[in-house]
Amino acid sequence: MYRDHTKVIQIGNKKIGGGNPILIQSMTNTKTENVQATVEQILALEAAGCDIIRCAVPTMEAAKALKEIKKQIHIPLVADIHFDYRLAIAAMENGADKIRINPGNIGSTERIKAVVDVAKERNIPIRVGVNSGSLEKELVEKYHGVTAEGLVESALDKVHIIEELGYDNLVISIKSSDVMMCARAHELIAEQTSYPLHVGITEAGTLYSGNIKSAIGLGIILYQGIGDTIRVSLTGAPLEEVKSARRILKTLGLRKGGVEVVSCPTCGRTQIDLIGLANKVETMVQDIPLDIKVAVMGCVVNGPGEAKEADIGIAGGVGVGLLIKGGEIVKKVPEDQLLDTLREELMNWDSNKTQK
Ligand code: SF4
Repeated sequence: MYRDHTKVIQIGNKKIGGGNPILIQSMTNTKTENVQATVEQILALEAAGCDIIRCAVPTMEAAKALKEIKKQIHIPLVADIHFDYRLAIAAMENGADKIRINPGNIGSTERIKAVVDVAKERNIPIRVGVNSGSLEKELVEKYHGVTAEGLVESALDKVHIIEELGYDNLVISIKSSDVMMCARAHELIAEQTSYPLHVGITEAGTLYSGNIKSAIGLGIILYQGIGDTIRVSLTGAPLEEVKSARRILKTLGLRKGGVEVVSCPTCGRTQIDLIGLANKVETMVQDIPLDIKVAVMGCVVNGPGEAKEADIGIAGGVGVGLLIKGGEIVKKVPEDQLLDTLREELMNWDSNKTQK
């Protein structure tokens, strides 16, 4: 696995790389200058499972706000800087645990050096990010368009600039909204560097298409052992990004914890409002700290059999439902009590016991 051999980088109170667990990142969409709103959002994201948070720092006021924000949150804070090197310096002076810059838009080597000097002094990691939307003209011409090869060359060029300034406390990200180009770029760069990689499909879109694109892109990349931190970028609430990221890691077997709901697609045999029930179950289990599988099946024909793989399940009948544990029917419950019965079972769940 590439990720077992990447350089270990300390970001605030978390470590990434070198086989450490893959961490979930998100980005606030409040005005960073608004400390209260930003802190509220970060605390909600922490509760949902966000491991690292990034805030845009477009103004000096935002850079200064980081100091107060840092005091009220518990996860590492990354400052996202474009264009102005003075904002990068101010962000670090105000407590940023990592900065994300694109050296390509920071300007002259002197300006990059000024940023690197402060990072070095404070041992703050720098994420060097390149994006398919801002690939240099020369590389677009060299590779006859925006390509994975061009993105990799651009990222490594930037890394070399910082290495030549005597700093290697780095993380790399290569973003493209083209899922397959993004996957290819990660395959290529993983063979050429040992810096940890932050992986995400940029501008993936709304909840629907963004989730699909991110799941496919991150799935391909992570399954190959590439990627040390992830972000699911969605045109939506950051909370949704964290929920999706957790689901992607769990589906790939890269993270444990959380109730997984499996439910049948419904068919002509379904006699209960299974779609409504499955959605209610999914919402209900979100905050339940168990690592189990719950099946929600539409009928008694296949329900018990299909629920066998799950730790607990319910299957619908006519006006009633069945409660199934360990593949066996243990109780008949009126349809309108199914959800409450399941909730009670989960609340009293003892993970150390075989449930029957
Ligand atoms: Fe149809 Fe029953 Fe299978 Fe659901 S579990 S898809 S209702 S046969």
